[in-house]
Amino acid sequence: MKCLVAVKRVIDFNVKIRVKLDGSGVDTEHVKMSMNPFDEIALEEAVRLKEAGTVSEILAVSVGNESCQETLRAALARGADRALLVKVGSYIEPLNVAKILKSIVEQEQCSLVWLGKQAIDDDCNQTGQMLAGLLGWAQGTNVSKVTFKADTTDKTDNNSNLLIVEVTREIDGGLEVLNLQLPAVLTADLRLNTPRYISLPNVMKAKSKPLTVVSAAELSDSALDLNPHTKTLKVEAPKMHRTGVMVKDVQELVEKLKNEAKVL
Ligand code: AMP
Repeated sequence: MKCLVAVKRVIDFNVKIRVKLDGSGVDTEHVKMSMNPFDEIALEEAVRLKEAGTVSEILAVSVGNESCQETLRAALARGADRALLVKVGSYIEPLNVAKILKSIVEQEQCSLVWLGKQAIDDDCNQTGQMLAGLLGWAQGTNVSKVTFKADTTDKTDNNSNLLIVEVTREIDGGLEVLNLQLPAVLTADLRLNTPRYISLPNVMKAKSKPLTVVSAAELSDSALDLNPHTKTLKVEAPKMHRTGVMVKDVQELVEKLKNEAKVL
């Protein structure tokens, strides 16, 4: 079973974000960029599935500019077999990323797609769901545990290799367990696994693994409509929080709430 893992290049989670002066977006010049943390988790799970013999090949895909090659090399060092960069000029919204991924999934005949549950730059939490919708596949989002099993409900001889995937999802009220029929789209939550460190030999090995760069127009589905449906009007930094103060007793707290905060 071929597995596609979508990896997005985002501003590193340790970096303090600066909003551009004209409010058109955030500053990415001279800023450390990394693989989206949820994508690292998704990729780690795909690598574990390959080590367990469930997955035969892992294709890491990124949609973005030339610099995404660095992120894809990191994906190869983490255990992906091949990498594909679909070059686009500017920010591309989740629906259009999903359309591009669909085209690759069909061309590569993948039966499993892993994505992060959300990208930490736009926090959209949409791409996986949209991809599953476009493909008409089962989806398991916010997955914190995954188990592949033979489909014992299947009575036909020719489909005896069919697998179902049992996913545990983190939802507001607790955990939800679902059985999905493959092919499926899965999105990784934080507690799914802890990605391994990249070893130096694997970094060296990654240099000789195949990394292909194509433009969106070169995909098999060249009639893709990638026109944007949304427009960013303005980006603003969040208001600074006032620092807290220690009060010595309840009386002082009530007095401050009444006279300073004026909420009582
Ligand atoms: P989002 O819907 O933007 O929060 O992103 C959810 C997931 O979709 C990410 O964690 C990635 O796995 C994938 N994804 C989104 N945008 C891209 C992109 N430009 N390139 C590759 N994967 C992406």
